[in-house]
Amino acid sequence: MTKGLTYYAKKFANLRVDKARGTAPHKPILLLTVLDLCEKGLISRNEVYLSPELTANFLKFWHQFVSSDHHSNIALPFFHLTGDKFWHLMPNPGFEAAIQAKVKIRTLPALRSAVKYAYLDGELFALLQNPQSRTELTTILIQAWFPEKGNEIAESFKYDEFESVQQSLFDSGGATYKVEDLRDEDRIFVRNAAFRRNVVKLYDQRCAFCKTRVVSWDGLNIVDGAHIQPFSEFRDDRFVNGLALCKNHHWAFDHGWFGVDDDYRIVIPQERFMEEAPVQSRGIMGFKEEQIELPKDRRFMPSMEGLKWHREKWGLI
Ligand SMILES: [Zn+2]
Repeated sequence: MTKGLTYYAKKFANLRVDKARGTAPHKPILLLTVLDLCEKGLISRNEVYLSPELTANFLKFWHQFVSSDHHSNIALPFFHLTGDKFWHLMPNPGFEAAIQAKVKIRTLPALRSAVKYAYLDGELFALLQNPQSRTELTTILIQAWFPEKGNEIAESFKYDEFESVQQSLFDSGGATYKVEDLRDEDRIFVRNAAFRRNVVKLYDQRCAFCKTRVVSWDGLNIVDGAHIQPFSEFRDDRFVNGLALCKNHHWAFDHGWFGVDDDYRIVIPQERFMEEAPVQSRGIMGFKEEQIELPKDRRFMPSMEGLKWHREKWGLI
């Protein structure tokens, strides 16, 4: 039996929200974000991922629309919207029982490990892909939850906040942070993703060590934006502290299996490990003394100081 637009409009206007400290705005803000991402073509399958785009635009609406002193934690509505019966969670392998038992998950990292994506009732998803019903549902949300913000919504829908964060980070060549800047998990997640995506782009999606570039048709690639000096210790997201590395060589670099000297050549000490590689593969030792791939934009060459710190830490002299 079909439920129709009227049914979901009623649901959107009567979300089950926490009222202990005033009306909690989390659920309507998340739904606005989903509508926004559908409008931008960033959600075109019935799979809502806890992506940097979702999180950054959630924060965008939060800062524009919320005036109460609630804390902007995207994990809360992403989990609790299941109580409204049209939003469902697809567990990651190993978390099926926890999701089915509705074990509460309250933090972004925990939710990202337990849940692959959220999905909507098929009928609601179809309504969100239709511009007219999308506009109607957006209007319902605004009227029910943020009636005084009706004039601002069109402006907010115009831009992608994650793109703005990435661009402003690029314009400043990255950033360093203080401990107190890093208290908000949603923000850390967005900043982290913006750093990584920028570094990968600077190296043209190529591993600095083995130069491999593999990009799938849907834009995924096997290269990470790695830190030379670990973020947990140095809080340094300047691009000069970044290197694009494939998964294998990211892991090897983080474990000190190789370093990079002042001429950007690969340093591998003798007898650090043994390796066997099939004929066509070069393993790690085969790259000794080769120059690493460098960013085309020379302003963002890896920092000598950082690379020296890394060699000394791992005894790669
Ligand atoms: Zn590599």
